[in-house]
Amino acid sequence: MEQHSFRQRKIINQIEGEEDVNTWRDWKWQIKNAICDIDSFEKLTGIKFPPEEKNTLKKTLDKFPMSVTPYYASLIDPQDYKNDPVFRQSFPSPDELITQDYEMEDSLHEDKDSPAPGITHRYPDRVLFHVSNICSMYCRHCTRKRKVGDQDFVPSKKEILKGIEYIKNTPQIRDVLLSGGDPFMLSDEYIDWLLSEIEKIPHVEVVRIGTRVPVVLPYRITDGLVEMLKRHQPLWINTHFNHPRELTASSSRALKKLADAGIPLGNQSVLLANVNDCPKIIKKLCHKLVQNRVRPYYLFQCDLSEGLSHFRTPVGKGIEIIESLIGHTSGFAVPTYVIDAPGGGGKIPIMPNYIVSWSTNKVILRNYEGVITTYKEPDEYINNFCDRKCEDCSLQLNLEGAEEEVEIGVEKLLSDSDETGSLIPQGNPRIKKRKKHD
Ligand SMILES: *Cc1c(COP(=O)(O)O)cnc(C)c1O
Repeated sequence: MEQHSFRQRKIINQIEGEEDVNTWRDWKWQIKNAICDIDSFEKLTGIKFPPEEKNTLKKTLDKFPMSVTPYYASLIDPQDYKNDPVFRQSFPSPDELITQDYEMEDSLHEDKDSPAPGITHRYPDRVLFHVSNICSMYCRHCTRKRKVGDQDFVPSKKEILKGIEYIKNTPQIRDVLLSGGDPFMLSDEYIDWLLSEIEKIPHVEVVRIGTRVPVVLPYRITDGLVEMLKRHQPLWINTHFNHPRELTASSSRALKKLADAGIPLGNQSVLLANVNDCPKIIKKLCHKLVQNRVRPYYLFQCDLSEGLSHFRTPVGKGIEIIESLIGHTSGFAVPTYVIDAPGGGGKIPIMPNYIVSWSTNKVILRNYEGVITTYKEPDEYINNFCDRKCEDCSLQLNLEGAEEEVEIGVEKLLSDSDETGSLIPQGNPRIKKRKKHD
């Protein structure tokens, strides 16, 4: 059994009065001893805050509660805590009390797009299912800050059953994303039951779990949990590392267990000012993730949720970071940078521009080095007129009796069989004016 770090030994001694290796690795012990107030935080980390600062901190906690696992707190460097990425993600800042007029409680309209308890149904074929409101660590940058620590939002089994019923009655849903809160704060038995119920629905092809426990409570990934998850394939897991410092020996072990069980792993990071808003830090993070068999999936622009203004960067910072990754490193180490559209439009990918110009038979592109190149397009291309009657088409797409699809959005404009020429936002004043004159 390996040694604990000096800081971990200090924290165990403070809590237990003695050092016990098994205690530290017991995830329930970690939860029971989660740090929820400033005084305990000071005592366990050895950091001392000036008295006037403590007063504003307490006001912040009244609005947005704190909870930090002893494990995650042990990663903070007390000598330079103010600049510490782990500290900044877990410890309250008085800046959280600042509210901008463009910020919203529920900026992604997750509650508005909810047809059943806990369900957000935004995209045609997949749903977000909030199955737990409990987290082992309260991220200060949480997009669901409005719900953090609020017992009223803990879904009952009856509500969960209503959510399952909705999925059952909605045959388009082929992908169910369990989120929360953290689904891994539920017991193994409960998760087993939940996954079994969802698996029984014939149209559900895959289940995903979004969790931060590999980052803040890696001991939750027990052999028992993994054995159970293994019985519920195909199951995908997305986790939430934001900084290379979070990839410790313990979190690597947790990721190894999941990857060895054949569970594909992805990572969703959030771009956070003074935490990871640096191309070198994100590159290092992505490299460490792929070493641990975790595919960087999304890099999120920070949402417009209330109290997050001190975490937000300009969008240009994200583009600069992606510019430093594409071409410079392995393709599978590059996440997709997205803005989750305020008001519930879903995730929108953002990229540097690679198309420099275009004519009818040439595309002018630039690569990651700045080399400008020409891709010659065919001078003659016989377009296969598409009337969406796939059974008569020479391209022979076999639809196997599937329903005819209706084009939506920009796809509709590109289609040959639809006459629509433009998509006009509701209430567009220019069009309104036009109608009056007609
Ligand atoms: C993010 C999200 C999904 C999943 O989106 P993917 O791009 O498929 O990962 C589904 N539903 C909601 C409401 C989401 O926010």
